[in-house]
Amino acid sequence: MRIDVVSIFPEYLAPLRLSLLGRAQEDGLLELAVHDLRDFTFDRHRTVDDTPYGGGAGMVMKAEPWALALEHVLASQAATAEQPGSMGEAGQAAPTEEAAHDAGPASARRPVLIVPSPAGAVFTQAMAYELSEEPTLAFACGRYEGIDERVLDWAAQRFDVRPVSLGDYVLNGGEVAVMAMVEAVGRLLPGVVGNPESLVEESHADGLLEYPVYTKPSLWRGHGVPEVLLSGNHGKVASWRLEQQLRRTAARRPELLDGADAAPYGKAERAVLRELGYEVADGRIRRAAPRA
Ligand code: SAM
Repeated sequence: MRIDVVSIFPEYLAPLRLSLLGRAQEDGLLELAVHDLRDFTFDRHRTVDDTPYGGGAGMVMKAEPWALALEHVLASQAATAEQPGSMGEAGQAAPTEEAAHDAGPASARRPVLIVPSPAGAVFTQAMAYELSEEPTLAFACGRYEGIDERVLDWAAQRFDVRPVSLGDYVLNGGEVAVMAMVEAVGRLLPGVVGNPESLVEESHADGLLEYPVYTKPSLWRGHGVPEVLLSGNHGKVASWRLEQQLRRTAARRPELLDGADAAPYGKAERAVLRELGYEVADGRIRRAAPRA
């Protein structure tokens, strides 16, 4: 996968060169290019912002540097796709710049452009899985009051534009959101995480939160490890873990269970769900109505 990030603080993204994602880049599993938006300005002050039409507080990011930067991203992604042995040969080529320019709104496959925004759809693990299938991703880090809206309209002719929020709060800029999203997507790429099993048994992989985990010693400052985990009985361990997932999800994120498919759960889990105040109706888990 190739990822392009445009920011006025390219150095903010430096941690993405560390740890597992750093190794993924060394191993050629991930190509990360960070572009300085100010490189696409032509005035002495390298201006990227101006006052908002209609008045109001703050500044707005100007359209033209963004258009130039995103055109550069398209051209770079197309050049990567044309390299021998690149993802382009795997049949998932990013369109050439020319093709991308010609692409109308109905075009089947345009490269994905994520625009981090508190006004976007909230980022989820399901979204991370979906994005990990893309050959290229581009991210446009806003600052100030955000990017001139016309950039999104213009970009929609060339990219599959997706405004995405990290959560219901406001950050100073898109960089931190991009770091979180790139890490969540990058670790799903084949070969990035050593043991792919660890991706399966994780919070949100199956709609539940993960069970509690423990390591040695078995007794620590008076706190023991649940007996079942020391039993060596894999079946019992698996049942205990699933029960803990249900209990933890009901306690911390009850909305994740409400409306969930009941099919994966047998008699024992349904009994736990009843105890937790849920019922199964028409194959779905629902919060039971409070008793009158
Ligand atoms: N005026 C904007 C609004 O109220 O929607 C907020 C602008 S914010 C100060 C500046 C930039 O930070 C945004 O353009 C976006 O790139 C980023 N940002 C802020 N909060 C975010 C969030 N929850 N998720 C993703 N990006 C966020």
